[in-house]
Amino acid sequence: MTQPAVHTINLTRQFEVDIAVYNLDLMVEAGEIMALVGPSGCGKTTTLRLLAGFERPDAGEVHLAGRLVAGGRTFVPPEKRGVGMVFQDYALFPHLTVEENVAFGLQGRPRRKALDDARSMLSLVDLAGMAARYPHELSGGQRQRVALARALAPRPILVLMDEPFSNLDADLRAVMREEVRVILKGIKASAIFVTHDQEEALYMGDRLAVLNRGRLEQVGTPEDVFQRPRSRFVAEFMGGTDFLPGVVAAGGIMTEIGLVAQPVFLPAGTAVELAVRSDDIAFTPQAGGESLVLARHFRGAANAYRLRLPSGRLLHALESHQRMIRPGTPVAVRLEPGHPLVCFVDGVAVGGDPA
Ligand code: ATP
Repeated sequence: MTQPAVHTINLTRQFEVDIAVYNLDLMVEAGEIMALVGPSGCGKTTTLRLLAGFERPDAGEVHLAGRLVAGGRTFVPPEKRGVGMVFQDYALFPHLTVEENVAFGLQGRPRRKALDDARSMLSLVDLAGMAARYPHELSGGQRQRVALARALAPRPILVLMDEPFSNLDADLRAVMREEVRVILKGIKASAIFVTHDQEEALYMGDRLAVLNRGRLEQVGTPEDVFQRPRSRFVAEFMGGTDFLPGVVAAGGIMTEIGLVAQPVFLPAGTAVELAVRSDDIAFTPQAGGESLVLARHFRGAANAYRLRLPSGRLLHALESHQRMIRPGTPVAVRLEPGHPLVCFVDGVAVGGDPA
């Protein structure tokens, strides 16, 4: 049976003031890309540093491809872990050519073989024609591809990528995401990809691990994490979510804009919050309507509306680009999700199934 590329058990790293990583149990399967995502300061970089061996854990264990590399009295140094790293600032050697940069990690091999391997890696990242250039003669995207080629050339058991595209402009980021994912999948690399950008995490990860203050909030497929957040934190962090208070009633949840009919296995009268996304909402102009269109933002394919409910609470709704409703129009707002809405009690998701 193939060992997981990464397995951490109760991994903990505490600095003087902050617990950067707490009791982290994380498993990354061989050939899997795990996107590690969370807000600034939640422990993403510290987790990568613990895996790479730049940081020693205060407690817990790190196993890479079935081998204990940190924990108890064991501490394997970074250069003996078989881990490749790609940083946001590329960290290329300016005085070495592209080819020499990539061959740098292959120093154990005969020079000729190292250069051959470096060249085939450069073809893989589509830079075969740039082998003799120096880093300053490349664009940002090309430099990041060299950095990737250098990390992959020794065929590491794991590639760690720390916000690798954050120095690139938005268009190039989108292109690089696609290219890098294809490259990693093409060679079945196991990788952890750190980002604080939800959209990038959804795109890059086979699965996502969401961190909050050093703790793992949720691990799951992009669909899972986006559609079935286990906590209010995850729902909020993954973006585009409004929260609507309600009370459990017969047949569903009563909110200020009506009953949301869905099974809820909680006692009547329980106070809950519903996670509402902009495509769950419908509204129609209505003379004397108690809600109001506050603003419309044209987004190309869609119009994004900001609505004010009778209580003053704001909701966001997405409509076709053809449907133009002027700010100031009174409207009736309804929830039409077409699926049960995720429901939270005290910030924790409560399932639709009886416990
Ligand atoms: P960002 O997205 O901003 O890079 P991050 O999720 O990567 O953040 P970390 O850099 O891992 O977060 O930091 C986690 C916590 O540990 C933070 O509160 C940070 O201040 C603290 N921390 C990190 N490194 C050190 C250090 N060397 N000494 C003291 N505290 C540290």
